[in-house]
Amino acid sequence: MSRRRPATTPAYYRAYVRHLAIDIGGSKTAAAVVSEGAITNYTTWPSPSNASESLDRIIATCLPMIDGITACGVAFGGVFDFSQQRCVRSMHVSGWEGTDISSVLERALGIPVVTDNDANVAALGEYSLLDRREDPLLYVTISTGVGAAIIAKHQLIRGAHSMSGELGHLPLGHDKLCNCGQVGCFERAVSGYWLETDHGRPAADVLADPEHHRQWIADIATGLWSASVVLDPAVIVIGGGMSAQGEELLSPLTQALGQKASQSDRPPPALRLGDPTGRTVLVGAAILAREAEHGSR
Ligand SMILES: [Zn+2]
Repeated sequence: MSRRRPATTPAYYRAYVRHLAIDIGGSKTAAAVVSEGAITNYTTWPSPSNASESLDRIIATCLPMIDGITACGVAFGGVFDFSQQRCVRSMHVSGWEGTDISSVLERALGIPVVTDNDANVAALGEYSLLDRREDPLLYVTISTGVGAAIIAKHQLIRGAHSMSGELGHLPLGHDKLCNCGQVGCFERAVSGYWLETDHGRPAADVLADPEHHRQWIADIATGLWSASVVLDPAVIVIGGGMSAQGEELLSPLTQALGQKASQSDRPPPALRLGDPTGRTVLVGAAILAREAEHGSR
């Protein structure tokens, strides 16, 4: 795995001192204190089956952790309207629709809180680990579903409706119906959920078959190349559970993107693997917390 940390910690990164970071996922929730990129007080638990219980558990867990904390950043695993700070929907847990997570936590914890979609937050964490010349960043998470985020010059590009970079529903041209109602989506071809649904066995088993793996790589390359034609990223970082494939993903995908680039007479973006453990999203949540401190949300 090829990752580069800055030789010296940049000033924008040193500023994030003792923030509370929370990651609300479909299957698990995590919280930690993040200080200058270092994670302490890490704790995780299975996500409760409804929003109300989730918030109660987060508050009970985090209240003893907030001594000396200046702000909190939250990553939410679902569709999230950043400008309104409201959950649109969670794919896995009921009751989040319309919830203003930040206001609920601000009242309970007594510190500024800002929330964003988990792909955006993970992208902030990954961006902080990159060389400064690797800008813009396209972050793509391939897991149960597909999420993505774009960062240029230290700013997330959220779009007019907090929907920028929703690559999961980029049309690839195949004929399978996605659960968004469209036919041919990127996510429909490459996500873990759909691999398991289509083949009736775990995604890892499906991808152990060389022919399925070859097609999976080809579909990911088509999606990433389509996005690259629009965005011209300097680097694409692939995160999410499927990035645990390591070189078995990175090497053929780099080759496939290189081929598409040479056919188009364009330079290919650099390709890197993100953190499959989910801890980088907590670093991103701490970076997001700065927006709460500065009142920019
Ligand atoms: Zn779709």
